[in-house]
Amino acid sequence: MSHRVKCLYCGEQFDRDIEPTKQISARRYAHMKCWENHVANMSQEERDIEAFYDYTKKLFGEDYNYILTKKLAERYVKENNYTYSGMLKTLKWYYEKEGNSLDKSNGSIGIIPYVYKQALNYYYALYQAQLVNQEKDISNFTISKEKVVEIESPRVYVRPPHMWLEEEDNE
Ligand SMILES: [Zn+2]
Repeated sequence: MSHRVKCLYCGEQFDRDIEPTKQISARRYAHMKCWENHVANMSQEERDIEAFYDYTKKLFGEDYNYILTKKLAERYVKENNYTYSGMLKTLKWYYEKEGNSLDKSNGSIGIIPYVYKQALNYYYALYQAQLVNQEKDISNFTISKEKVVEIESPRVYVRPPHMWLEEEDNE
């Protein structure tokens, strides 16, 4: 039995049992190659936005309120200068690390402004601890500084938490 699907990016029909396939969501598929091209051409912000919506969708499951989440997320970015990766990390910290219940969430992200700074502090401490550990292994401080710059290259998804607030200095 063949499983013919339509590629989300090039629109071509293909058999997902024969060709290398990426499943995008429950009913959306793409050629692996087309998907890889798509990802390669995305900007860092587009990746962050996609990761944010992927995560919130999974987190809230059946209760997910996409319309409200989109509205709030756009407002927080505009009015609070939050970033999508910062908001995602805040939710991870609040629900996964702190183990808070989803009961009062109404399927959306209204908690973020109340805990963003706390989450940021948590990740910042973690980040600094990692730097300290890295420096322990490297005797020459100049070399270790270069390593830090490498970590911040735009192709790497995880950014240090002090970059969450866009107006903040990177140093
Ligand atoms: Zn394709």
